[in-house]
Amino acid sequence: MITINNPKDCCGCSACVQRCPKHCISLIEDNEGFFYPKVNVNACIDCGLCEKVCPMLNRSNDMRKPIEVYAAKNRDEEIRRTSSSGGVFSALAIQVIKEDGVVFGACFNADWEVIHDYAETEEELVKFRGSKYVQSRIGNAYLLAEKFLKAGRKVLFSGTPCQIAGLKFFLRKEYENLYTADIICHGVPSPGIWREYLKEEIARQRNRKNTVLPHPIHEKDTRVEGISFRDKEYGWKRFSFALTLSTTNGSGEKFSFCSHIPLHENLFLKGFLANLYLRPSCYACPVKCGKSGSDLTLGDFWGLSAVFPELDDDKGMTALLANSTKGKRLLERTDIKTWVTNYESVLRGNPALERSVRIPENRAKFYEYADIPFGKRIRKYTRTDIKSRIKRKIKRIVTGIVNGKSN
Ligand SMILES: Cc1cc2nc3c(=O)[nH]c(=O)nc-3n(C[C@H](O)[C@H](O)[C@H](O)COP(=O)(O)OP(=O)(O)OC[C@H]3O[C@@H](n4cnc5c(N)ncnc54)[C@H](O)[C@@H]3O)c2cc1C
Ligand code: SF4
Ligand code: SF4
Ligand code: SF4
Repeated sequence: MITINNPKDCCGCSACVQRCPKHCISLIEDNEGFFYPKVNVNACIDCGLCEKVCPMLNRSNDMRKPIEVYAAKNRDEEIRRTSSSGGVFSALAIQVIKEDGVVFGACFNADWEVIHDYAETEEELVKFRGSKYVQSRIGNAYLLAEKFLKAGRKVLFSGTPCQIAGLKFFLRKEYENLYTADIICHGVPSPGIWREYLKEEIARQRNRKNTVLPHPIHEKDTRVEGISFRDKEYGWKRFSFALTLSTTNGSGEKFSFCSHIPLHENLFLKGFLANLYLRPSCYACPVKCGKSGSDLTLGDFWGLSAVFPELDDDKGMTALLANSTKGKRLLERTDIKTWVTNYESVLRGNPALERSVRIPENRAKFYEYADIPFGKRIRKYTRTDIKSRIKRKIKRIVTGIVNGKSN
């Protein structure tokens, strides 16, 4: 029976919950806003299945290097603009739909929480487009994927590397009709903290006077119309957080307003990049270095200008890793533009492929003072002290000198 003694030993994939024959495992939110399984011991028959499917208990040591690496982008500029990097995910998904397949990915639900869902038409795929920097809840997506696979449908399952590892352990057999695509993964922020942030941000926007929205705006009349964590209004590299709100005035007239908050001014992204509220398992991620077993890996091709300067138009480029022959074949059928490169050129700008981030000193304090409003806490705990700033500057100077000498 699954017992979580240390939160870092559970990535929250929910393979155990979905596999339990007695349905006696539920997911409970902890005080950091993450979900963990809890077994109803009275109903448990001690069959051990939950342990067999857990990717954290059955860690793979199988480090893999991709068989081919590309810089890649979607040919459709509108899809590329609305995707986080080069829009390769959408192209892959469209291909699988064309082959009468089913695509699983992360999307928002009606309450703007992030969940896993599936799509069977090109129109439905839009909901998966773009990175959502919040841990998604898998729900019963593994069970549904298994059902489609058994019925002979092609399935493209996308998610974080640990979600792909979880799916593979859950299925416990290889399916020729299954394609898996994971992302280069920095780590996933807490759903509870996202909820707290969004509430504060909506209130802040409601109270701003310099918007096109009529004032005063009442809470009950305000609706979130859209959220993008990776808006390209100021470019791919200087991405911003975009929140679209709408409201109606007394005569029922509808107004909407979109705010673009630059990366380093958006409080939620600031805390994410400072690693303040990542899931504990992300600080010692067991599925880096290709251990998830995915067929394809997608990420941002940071460092593109050093490899292909002529391709860098700041509109987004995907770093695309083909990890298996099956994945490579799917790519060959997919209509995208690709440029062959090597693993090292992607790794240079993306250490997250191999290394987990460190737990910041302020993480515990950030959670300890949960009664202080989110905005205040973020400002306090993402502030770098003068000592660290000087240390960083010296490091940069020394690295510059060393690089200058060796060139
Ligand atoms: C939490 C998170 C951390 C990331 N960290 C890095 C990083 O450190 N370095 C890097 O290069 N790239 C990272 N990425 C991936 C990157 O942001 C793009 O998603 C990737 O480049 C694919 O872009 P695209 O343009 O091809 O497709 P897009 O349309 O932008 O991406 C959609 C894909 O992302 C998946 N997805 C979106 N949100 C989630 C989520 N919450 N959980 C699971 N899957 C999700 C969808 O299912 C779909 O497969 C991260 C993504 C997420 C969600
Ligand atoms: S041991 Fe079996 S019955 Fe008990 S929680 Fe695990 S899967 Fe469920
Ligand atoms: S990692 Fe997944 S399978 Fe393992 S205990 Fe956590 S939710 Fe269950
Ligand atoms: S960093 Fe690792 S444990 Fe965390 S979400 Fe990504 S794949 Fe899962």
